[in-house]
Amino acid sequence: PRFDERFASRTPRTRALFERAKKTIPGGAGSTARLPRNGWKPYPLFVAEGEGSRLRDVDGNEYIDYLLGLGPMILGHRNPVITRAVSDAVANLGTCFGLPYELEIEAAEKVVAAVPGIDQVRFTNSGSEAVGTAVRLARATTGRRLIVRFEGHYHGWQDTVYWSNHVDPALAGPIENPRPVAMGGGVPTELEDTLVVLNWNDPEALIALMESRGHEIAAVLTEPAVFNTGCILPEPGYLELLREQTTKYGAMLIFDEVITGFRFARGGAQEWFGITADLVTYAKGLGGGFPVAAVAGTREAMRLIADGTYSHSGTYNANVVQCAAVSATMDLLAEPGLYERQRALGDRLATGLETIARDRGVAAHVTGIGTVFQLWFADQKIRNWRDAAAYAREDVFTRWYEEMVLRGVLFHPLQFENLFISLVHTDADIDATLNAADDAMSVIA
Ligand code: PLP
Repeated sequence: PRFDERFASRTPRTRALFERAKKTIPGGAGSTARLPRNGWKPYPLFVAEGEGSRLRDVDGNEYIDYLLGLGPMILGHRNPVITRAVSDAVANLGTCFGLPYELEIEAAEKVVAAVPGIDQVRFTNSGSEAVGTAVRLARATTGRRLIVRFEGHYHGWQDTVYWSNHVDPALAGPIENPRPVAMGGGVPTELEDTLVVLNWNDPEALIALMESRGHEIAAVLTEPAVFNTGCILPEPGYLELLREQTTKYGAMLIFDEVITGFRFARGGAQEWFGITADLVTYAKGLGGGFPVAAVAGTREAMRLIADGTYSHSGTYNANVVQCAAVSATMDLLAEPGLYERQRALGDRLATGLETIARDRGVAAHVTGIGTVFQLWFADQKIRNWRDAAAYAREDVFTRWYEEMVLRGVLFHPLQFENLFISLVHTDADIDATLNAADDAMSVIA
């Protein structure tokens, strides 16, 4: 039987909830990323509850969870320490004051202590907001307009950056000089002139641009490793080049660490790669699953926020739920040996999947860093979005996802996303996943 029928036979209640949801929630889910057209076929799972590394759907099916809420559940679902810290803070302090308070300082101090290269941090609600702030701050600071961004990276849904993510190469044109392409209706086309889009991991393209327009560029905005196109890592020297070229031309370097922050190392990509940016954005991972994001930076980069001439505002910025969650999360992430242990677990899973694919004769390879990776069904190395668009076998990935979800292993259904391993996944989770994978791979081989 087809996947849709097999899935439907084990999810009757889920299906009924989806029909009900569609009446009052457009599309039946709270984010477009959760709709069938974005991979959740024939309809998204409806979750009953999560605990640790596991999810249970409303039909009673259990899953080992590698979706992790798209990244935030870094310490597992319903982590008792974070849950208690947040509920105690709300019970004892309140929720939202429109004024500063001491727990906010505590949260900021812990973030600054955890991460290299930054002196100051402002909390906000979502990654998109944090990126929007960083981009405008870079423009205000430099007095320049141009932002450089890369194909295949995702920086949230704001007009200024919602361009050329998973862009159709036919629309963007030759990779030597790609056109910015808005990723949806409603984005003002006039903003095209405020962006330059480049191929990532391509040193010559960056150097040529900086030589011709370096003095017009406010910032180079990049994911330090491209976790929005299946975990592509920077080639040796590439981040160093971004750092060197931005400094040379007086542009700011913005690392969008919404995924990489606190993910595979407490200090995120800045610690892992040993390169520091001027401005850094955080979100997923920062608050152990609670909705909080941050824009952080050097004292110099935060100067206009500090003196009040740049308005970074927001009613819910640094509310009690956020700061309690950040403070408790930062404490838990400081456990000695935590990241080493979980990276080793992730490596065991990644290597195991690669071996299973090879033994079954399926062309696949893994890219990523410990606790976040992707299994690429491709026989070429993927260096950037154009490689991904050309070589990835999305059809094979879909069959892989289908066979795994039916075996109780949940991850994102699209090849260009990734698998997240929380800091509470166990050896037993990995063993069970590898068993399921062996079975699944034999079906798709
Ligand atoms: N930046 C990156 C690198 C992301 O992965 C995302 C979300 O996936 C965002 C920004 C936007 O964050 P949010 O969804 O919290 O607005």
